[in-house]
Amino acid sequence: MLERLKLKALEEGTPITIEEALELNRRYSTDELRHAADEIRLKWCGNVIHTCSIVNARSGRCSEDCKWCAQSAHHKTGVKEYDYISENEMMSAFRTNRNRGVSCFSMVTSGRKVIPEQMYQFCRMFKKASDEGGIKLCASMGLLDRDQLQQLWDAGVRKYHCNLETSRSYFPALCSTHSIDDKLKTIYIAREIGFKVCCGGIIGMGETMRDRLELAEMAREVGASSIPINILQPIKGTPLENIEKITEDEVTRSVALMRFVAPKCTLHFAGGRAQLSKEAMVNILRGGMNGALIGDMLTTVGNKVADDYKMFNETGYEIEDQDGIITED
Ligand code: SF4
Repeated sequence: MLERLKLKALEEGTPITIEEALELNRRYSTDELRHAADEIRLKWCGNVIHTCSIVNARSGRCSEDCKWCAQSAHHKTGVKEYDYISENEMMSAFRTNRNRGVSCFSMVTSGRKVIPEQMYQFCRMFKKASDEGGIKLCASMGLLDRDQLQQLWDAGVRKYHCNLETSRSYFPALCSTHSIDDKLKTIYIAREIGFKVCCGGIIGMGETMRDRLELAEMAREVGASSIPINILQPIKGTPLENIEKITEDEVTRSVALMRFVAPKCTLHFAGGRAQLSKEAMVNILRGGMNGALIGDMLTTVGNKVADDYKMFNETGYEIEDQDGIITED
């Protein structure tokens, strides 16, 4: 069965169904799944790893009650709070990441959406970065409407990130203040305007394998070019602070099966990967994953970024954009 479904994915790029993926999960070892996923990744996504980096452009004070999130005003986590990053900090992070060869740079904001004064500031910063060029710009600013998305587009942003977080059926157990449909509305408008969209989620929040695969399927169906996969780092003060951690084996299997469900999408290692062993990270990069969020907004993490690049090279990847290679994702 594994061989048959792998060949289908390799020859036609045909995604498998959730039921087929669950059957693979029951029947095959982690190594068998990840080796097959690696072949599918190589066929459809090639050997160039996609890298992106983010700055937290607005932090805390969020009206929403997402159970995993440190930035929700519903939880007491002691997170830093500010309404918008200064232009100096933003441009410094932008230039640092451009110099590192990162291919996509994003401003991420807490909150359901951005108020007009903040949107004005963010667009001004994006425009400045866009005029300097050299790196693709992405924004992750919540449930924006058409007018706000258009403002970002006009400022030079070309990718919009809006995580779906988990399956449609599990989402209400994690958040009561907005819905998957609210997210889809923003994602569809972003696509209509012309943005590439990046829609992933978090694993390790008590969901089942079916939920993870449904998340990947939903992201593929909305036309996401990339699917970031975060591994929950339980945060003290959130309702999920004591949740049992997902195992490395479960993460590896989940990523491999997501590759079968979304053969042509970039699967992006996002938050939480620092808690994995190097061996697990390598297995995942050679088991379906072909992108990574690297660094952070500080300039003091250069060694960590260098370690990441070393690991990507060791796993046989070329780094996107370092020599002017820009691939579309
Ligand atoms: S909407 Fe975003 S910032 Fe607000 S609680 Fe949910 S995940 Fe956190």
